[in-house]
Amino acid sequence: MHIVHIAVEMAPIAKVGGLGDVVTSLSRAVQDLNQNVDIILPKYDCWKFNNVKDFQFHKSYSWGGTQIKVWFGKVEGLSVYFLEPQNGFFSVGCIYGRGNDGERFGLFCHAALEFLLQSGFHPDIIHCHDWSSAPVAWLYKEHYRHYGLNKARVVFTIHNLEFGANLIGKAMLNSDKATTVSPTYSQEVSGNPAIAPYLFKFRGILNGIDQDIWDPYNDKFIPLSYTSENVIEGKRAAKEALQQRLGLKKADQPLVGIITRLTHQKGIGLIKHAIWRTLDHNGQVVLLGSAPDPRIQNDFVNLANQLHSSHNDRARLCLTYDEPLSHMIYAGADFILVPSIFEPCGLTQLIAMRYGSIPIVRKTGGLYDTVFDVDHDKERAQVYCLEPNGFNFDGADAAGVDYALNR
Ligand code: ADP
Repeated sequence: MHIVHIAVEMAPIAKVGGLGDVVTSLSRAVQDLNQNVDIILPKYDCWKFNNVKDFQFHKSYSWGGTQIKVWFGKVEGLSVYFLEPQNGFFSVGCIYGRGNDGERFGLFCHAALEFLLQSGFHPDIIHCHDWSSAPVAWLYKEHYRHYGLNKARVVFTIHNLEFGANLIGKAMLNSDKATTVSPTYSQEVSGNPAIAPYLFKFRGILNGIDQDIWDPYNDKFIPLSYTSENVIEGKRAAKEALQQRLGLKKADQPLVGIITRLTHQKGIGLIKHAIWRTLDHNGQVVLLGSAPDPRIQNDFVNLANQLHSSHNDRARLCLTYDEPLSHMIYAGADFILVPSIFEPCGLTQLIAMRYGSIPIVRKTGGLYDTVFDVDHDKERAQVYCLEPNGFNFDGADAAGVDYALNR
């Protein structure tokens, strides 16, 4: 089968969150099953160019009065076509937050289908993701299926319903199949008016992580390679390196890591509470996060300053996006905390487990589907032939986090 993903994020070259990870890991998993997978992405100026192999000019065509240059390259072994509209839509700034994102991505979706048509591609499946490539679903139904691309079926995946419910509803209507990223989240959103009419074609399929991309045995960002055989030594070396890099006390205290976009979805109040709670109980905390909202960013800058005076040797807030540092934290932490208010799937708890860090999560969406509490979920884990693997808590107040952290 020929499967084409049309997406605006792809790890590691252009990633904001889990959507970027999944476009890459799902494509690799399907390619490993001997299917033919291509990805179409905007060519951002901000991309991490050194991660693209065999980069070359492919062709140029015009659509709607705009000249589109197409570049080709290999990313993590996947074939990627990069579209560069000559109107400058993707040449300044980065992925989101330009004010005209809807217009930019709308043009990208249209140009991507046009590229498939003009190149004589006949994909069996066109897969689009979230609001940003949702237009693919209806542009295909309204225009392109009448012209030569008629073989394709459209799959639309919701990675987060919070972003663009109207566009998502329209894509649900026009797609042949719709999925979201965990069974529990599919139930949680099933009553939403954008989803409810389409439950007959909607399914929650749990995300996974790419175990070769996230692999403590083969990770250039951590000091010592490890597997389950030498996990104690590997994590000890990673923790010391992390403490050293961030100027924390080199002590054998439990270290709680948090790696997140800082938005209300992620449980900001609970994160702050957990930081203080951990410090009160003589632990260490490292937070890596950035906030798209400047008010939240400011709030955390203030907290970082406060912690700088009160707990400089045990707490560090790194208020930025930093891929290499994230690897060091996954490896060096004892626990990874994910107290999300809602979470379609969540990848950080999965990456945590891959690196031998214990997840502490709020019971919601995919966090509920992947983390089984050592004290309460033995039977639920057995259904999936799993052992309990972490701590979880109910409720959205301090008592729940405390209960999980205390244990
Ligand atoms: P979401 O997609 O809602 O942001 P996920 O848990 O699905 O949440 O995916 C988050 C991904 O982004 C993970 O790969 C995580 O490691 C990464 N990530 C989040 N924040 C940062 C950051 N500040 N620096 C580096 N990586 C980050």
